[in-house]
Amino acid sequence: MRKILSKTRYLYGIQCPKLLWVATNQKERLPETDAFTQHVFDQGHLVGQLAQQLFPGGISATATGFMEAINKTRGLLKERKPLFEASVLSGQLFSRADILRPVNEDEWDIIEVKSSTQVKEINFDDVSFQKYCWEQDGIKINKCFLACINNQYIKQGQIEPEEFFNLHDITAEVKKAGEGIQSRIEEMLETIRLSNCPQASIGPHCSDPYPCVMTECWEHLPENNVFTLYYGGQKALELYQNGITDILNIPENHTLSERQRIQIISAESGQPHIDRAALHEFLDKLKYPLYFLDFETFSTAVPLFDGTRPYQTIPFQFSLHIQDSPGGKITHHSFLASGKKDPRGEFLAALCRFSGSNGSIVAYSKAFEEKVLASLAEEFPDYRECIENMLSRTRDLLEPFRNFYLYHPAQHGSASLKKVLPALTGLSYDEMPIARGDLASLAFLSIASGEMPESEVKLKREELLSYCKLDTGGMVKIVDRLRELAEI
Ligand code: SF4
Repeated sequence: MRKILSKTRYLYGIQCPKLLWVATNQKERLPETDAFTQHVFDQGHLVGQLAQQLFPGGISATATGFMEAINKTRGLLKERKPLFEASVLSGQLFSRADILRPVNEDEWDIIEVKSSTQVKEINFDDVSFQKYCWEQDGIKINKCFLACINNQYIKQGQIEPEEFFNLHDITAEVKKAGEGIQSRIEEMLETIRLSNCPQASIGPHCSDPYPCVMTECWEHLPENNVFTLYYGGQKALELYQNGITDILNIPENHTLSERQRIQIISAESGQPHIDRAALHEFLDKLKYPLYFLDFETFSTAVPLFDGTRPYQTIPFQFSLHIQDSPGGKITHHSFLASGKKDPRGEFLAALCRFSGSNGSIVAYSKAFEEKVLASLAEEFPDYRECIENMLSRTRDLLEPFRNFYLYHPAQHGSASLKKVLPALTGLSYDEMPIARGDLASLAFLSIASGEMPESEVKLKREELLSYCKLDTGGMVKIVDRLRELAEI
């Protein structure tokens, strides 16, 4: 069977020959699309439909089958009307344009729709492949555009596509990206014809321009591999390329930061590193009662509520554990929006009801909570005083871990709560039905949109509450553990 080089595969080929080969010849090796990626696709679809409204009178060129779509497009091209999802097959090259717009007597503009708010380098390769395919098929391309989301757009009533999108003329950039495209394509066609998968070493290309889905390439690495090195970056890559995969095998004389040295010593001994003086200093700054706070938020490409922007962070849930004194009584409050309307007002009302007026508010990686609160202060001036009071009391539980006052070998070079919590307390997210913030957002959006069957909503809401509660309950335990370790 003739192997097709599609636009997606061309972009894979730019990233890595192995990825291109697997995507063409052994698709089953690629992991299934996860819920979050599917959500990103769905958002893209929604944005694509909105962009079509920019071209009234346009015709959809979609069809149920591969060849049907190509043949349908061929027929529709004669009508000289904007075409949506127009497909072209030229030899082994296949591409689909989001929008083709007829211009001049016999030319077309390509309009590629993106859910991002900025033009990216990879977009030029994307459109240059499309342009090449159309031109190989005898279609004249005049200009190329990218329709990106205008992140300053504020929804008021119905979305207005003219305001929602920014149209960027990328004709010149596409022309440049198209230099040498023919030989690049020939090389890729040779790659996909190979009977065996080409070898490819892991490196920066695995996350550029997109995180590669082929996790199997990383599976040979040991537990304490050089890529876990704290802020390892280029240094980790150089070590790997020089045949050093385990941090325990890094030569003594290698240049490392103090924190990287602590990480290695800790991995060797299996013992935590503890700077008791620094821990004491941090703990002394916490003023009781302590309010352990965590938010869950969502953001959507197309804003859901009036007064909000694309990708605005909307809080819908919080968990708050309050502890009177070290080792003292703990109370818990939580809020989870109904999903039936803009949650921000009720969220703030509940938060201000429970957050008191003195005592430290403890968040993990507080910059996020602070940013959300600062934004809410602008949007809801009635709550400004409460929010400003909260902001003045916020302390970051990330501090002792980011600064290595405490480092546990089970953190494997990460200071994230997902690593620190199990390392220090034995509590874990492993058994949680919802174990990540992005999945919590999706679960809530699914409830809010009405997509989730009513019979599942109650259980999902309980899962959301448990997930957020583990974050703040876990923080209580982390502070308890820090106190113990500071005294040992
Ligand atoms: S993980 Fe890296 S090496 Fe493996 S296929 Fe992807 S880009 Fe290539």
